[in-house]
Amino acid sequence: MKSLNPKNDAASMFQHVRSNMLRGFLYAAFVSFFINFAMLIGPLFMMQVYERVIPARSYETLYGLITIGVFGVILFGILDFIRSWTYAVMADVFARRLNLPALQAGVLRSIQGGAGEGGAVIKDIAELRAFIQGGAISAPIDAFWSIVFLIALYFLHPVYVAVAIIYILVMLFLNFVTDRVTRQAIQDASKAQQRHLQDVANSLRHAEVIEAMGMLPALVRNWRRSQEEMLDMGHVSSVRNRIVVAITKSLQKSLTMIVVATGAFLTLANAVSHSVLFPAMIMTSQAVGPFASMIESWRSWVNAIDSWGRIRLLIEGYENERQTMPAPAGDGDLDIDNLIYMPDGRDTPVLRGISFSVSPGEVLGIVGPSGAGKSTLARCLTGIIKPSMGGVYLDGHSTYLWERGSFGRAIGYLPQNLSLLDGTVRQTIARMRDSDPRDVIRAAQLAGIHELIGRLPFGYDTPVAETGHLMSGGQMQRLALARALYGDPKLIILDEPNSNLDSVGEQALIRAIETCKARGAIVIIIAHRPSVMAVTDKMVVIENGAVAQFGPRTEVISMITPDARSRAESRRRTISNSNMPGEA
Ligand code: ATP
Repeated sequence: MKSLNPKNDAASMFQHVRSNMLRGFLYAAFVSFFINFAMLIGPLFMMQVYERVIPARSYETLYGLITIGVFGVILFGILDFIRSWTYAVMADVFARRLNLPALQAGVLRSIQGGAGEGGAVIKDIAELRAFIQGGAISAPIDAFWSIVFLIALYFLHPVYVAVAIIYILVMLFLNFVTDRVTRQAIQDASKAQQRHLQDVANSLRHAEVIEAMGMLPALVRNWRRSQEEMLDMGHVSSVRNRIVVAITKSLQKSLTMIVVATGAFLTLANAVSHSVLFPAMIMTSQAVGPFASMIESWRSWVNAIDSWGRIRLLIEGYENERQTMPAPAGDGDLDIDNLIYMPDGRDTPVLRGISFSVSPGEVLGIVGPSGAGKSTLARCLTGIIKPSMGGVYLDGHSTYLWERGSFGRAIGYLPQNLSLLDGTVRQTIARMRDSDPRDVIRAAQLAGIHELIGRLPFGYDTPVAETGHLMSGGQMQRLALARALYGDPKLIILDEPNSNLDSVGEQALIRAIETCKARGAIVIIIAHRPSVMAVTDKMVVIENGAVAQFGPRTEVISMITPDARSRAESRRRTISNSNMPGEA
């Protein structure tokens, strides 16, 4: 469904970059015109030496020609530098301007389709940047300006133009053949390579499990299979391309002979002077050369066009539905209003018409069996995923639509899988932002981890990525808790915060929750272990994606008795039936 919000910064930035690229391309084409002119200096110099210097034995003319020649070569060097500098600037603009929108779109894509989906765009940007910088763009530009050489050849003799045009047509045909025989194979090879690299990267993230359970041989077998698929496809495209390139090179060699032979015929027929023989040879090969280069660089062209298409699709498909105006959170309630969530590709909703409210200073516990939808509900509360119907409102505003920078400051989220990024302990707690040390220490103290950090080799500067062996699972969980508590957020959502904690850790967690409650925060805890539920004011029981019970903790606990459960079950059925989408 199209967004009602017409603003799509990422797509407009993409349009902007596209017009930048077009402007850069036209500028490079303009400079190339003069480069091709400057390239005429060599053959003209040769001709003049044959025609004016040698017959007249004129040193003055030779000195004059050498001066012009040196000037021409310097001019060529300067123009060539300007052109390659243009490509470097284009590549830089491309990468710098698209990095942020691509990352935004990539993050969204990763939420919907997994990390690999979003990550591929960064690789595409890097490859396209290298392609632009590498100057392969010059081939079609120079092919266009081969007209300069054709005009010059015309002044030598029209037959040379005919020869050059025949060769150009043959080269164009070979370009067409290359496209037909290699495009699909190149695309398949590139897809296979992406799959293979993604496979390996995914597996390496779980190195410990692989090593512990001796999974390496099986994985190597899988990798070898995907590697072989990748190499086979790469081999097919490369062999086909090489065959066409070999034909092209042979033809280029034959061009030299044909032009010399043509020149010899024309000289014998007294149609041209013998002095044009070598200049004509150079000019025809300069006219035909760019068409041959296009064949050689075909593979990088196909990959570049594909990368461009993928980036465009991702960025233009990115709908920035979030608001753009930063808004600090007020002291209002958290309202969940008839929340329905049906993921793409599923025909039954995961959340079916959930409604309840939590006020500032209240702690809500969410319980329910595995797979009931608790974590999905937490993700909806954080505004990560878009509700299919209904909504989640903090202080009257949708958590999904909220501008992410300001909403990020209003919320603390501890996900089930911790999701600790690479960085130091300080950066981790401060959510990678520039931080006031006092705030970092406060959050660490609140999570009961300040002393533990003091015992780490580099204290708050210890890199988290390398602390796997320095911090236990429970300690890592408390580090993630400190991150959630950093900056005194208004809304704190803790998904299984005590799953790895011992009793000391749980006591610290309960103290932290009580402190947050005392300062008026809304705290939501999802937990299987009941110990932490003692701190909650209200509880909601989620079963099969719907609210089975909601109310003050004591009431809900008293309801979760065998007798009460059967009553709750019949009530749940009534609620879920009345809230099924399409059945209203
Ligand atoms: P647990 O207590 O075991 O963590 P949970 O109550 O937190 O379970 P969820 O993780 O919310 O359960 O998952 C509820 C169900 O919704 C699962 O069956 C899950 O597969 C499904 N689900 C959640 N998100 C998606 C999605 N994006 N696409 C398809 N199914 C999904």
